[in-house]
Amino acid sequence: MSTHVYNRIALIGLGLIASSMAHAIRRGNLAQEITGYARSEATRETARQISLCDRVCDTAADAVKGADLVVLCVPVGAMGPVMEEIAPVLQPGATVSDVGSVKRHVIEAVQPHIPEGVHFVPAHPLAGTEHSGPEAGFAELYDNRWCLLVPVEGSDPDAVDRLRRLWEGMGANVDEMDADHHDLVLAVTSHAPHLIAYTMVGVADDLRRVTDSEVIKYSAAGFRDFTRIAASDPTMWRDVFLTNKDATLEILGRFTEELFALQRAIRTGDGDHLFDYFTRTRAIRRGIIEAGQDTAAPDFGRGGKP
Ligand code: NAP
Repeated sequence: MSTHVYNRIALIGLGLIASSMAHAIRRGNLAQEITGYARSEATRETARQISLCDRVCDTAADAVKGADLVVLCVPVGAMGPVMEEIAPVLQPGATVSDVGSVKRHVIEAVQPHIPEGVHFVPAHPLAGTEHSGPEAGFAELYDNRWCLLVPVEGSDPDAVDRLRRLWEGMGANVDEMDADHHDLVLAVTSHAPHLIAYTMVGVADDLRRVTDSEVIKYSAAGFRDFTRIAASDPTMWRDVFLTNKDATLEILGRFTEELFALQRAIRTGDGDHLFDYFTRTRAIRRGIIEAGQDTAAPDFGRGGKP
């Protein structure tokens, strides 16, 4: 029995997110054909060697011709130019979606290029690892993870519903959210934490020079977890901070205020403040585990898929 949600899905950009989609689409038999395109010959060649798609094309235009779904899986800063390039060859009735980590900027960059008769339904799967490229993907990446759909004004309900079925078929739970709210929520849950991890690892790297590499040698759990996050793709994260500026700065402002309060508690020996604070944060961790978004296993984040 056919479980196809689309006939031909074109994945533009063939990194972690797109390659995981390709595996998950195949696992669920959700499309008749998957085409793909990546900017460099090297990535296209790797994708061909591992048979990631049915066809890897040498231009984005070739990949999207005849597709009824096109998913932009490139860094946020590249979405607008890529959309401009493919616009003339999109077939009427097709849907364009994306997986960008920031939504307002992507909508502003992409929507002006959407041709008449083509639907645009932005999306963001809340799943990832610190690995990149076409070989980093795996079919289970989206299982029991959230994918947020961010319909724009006038988005066709049937097109939204069809995309929802695709993400559900790939294992995700699907919700809808407004773009600005999405960008604020993600600034708290993902963007600011990444910046903090990058900073902590940068500080340790500076220190390493005066501690003769002991930071690496005796690396303990807290720091190791930061290094995993701070190993994330530099292009992707540069674009996230450049395009979700306001929400990230708002959250970092609040973070700095809290940090000063904790600093004062340490200086003045206010143990009650520290204890109450850490008790409150521990409860949040329990909430995440109860919501099924992580496991309580002590090696979480290190023992899973590459
Ligand atoms: P990735 O593994 O680094 O792959 C990015 C892909 O985009 C590569 O195939 C790259 O091609 C291609 N690309 C880069 N610039 C391009 C351009 N100017 N024109 C055409 N293709 C270009 O990245 P990813 O982790 O899959 O992320 C892709 C998108 O998903 C980003 O928008 C990111 O914000 C979003 N996202 C990421 C995560 C995560 O945790 N990684 C989670 C959710 C959403 P080459 O290899 O040839 O350079």
